[in-house]
Amino acid sequence: MHPMKHHRKPELIARIRAMLNAGASQAEIAEKLGKAKSTIAFHVRNLGVKPVEYSSPKPERKGKRKCVTCGKAKTAGAFPSKYNAECSMCIRGKK
Ligand SMILES: [Zn+2]
Repeated sequence: MHPMKHHRKPELIARIRAMLNAGASQAEIAEKLGKAKSTIAFHVRNLGVKPVEYSSPKPERKGKRKCVTCGKAKTAGAFPSKYNAECSMCIRGKK
């Protein structure tokens, strides 16, 4: 008989997934579940879920893309990655 693998916690993982789907941040989930942020981050990575779902990026036009927050058309370099709908300036402004 194989010993149970105690590090897999299906219930916890299900709750994390549900909260992620509801739009909660990892910090909020950690607080609500009384777990360390690193624990939540670990499970989120295992789920293969993107940490936070931002709104989808605007289509690129003539090498530029509109930032969903400031509405300015900016070159790809102004965004952290092609998956970000917000430009780096707006993201930085929120922190
Ligand atoms: Zn912006």
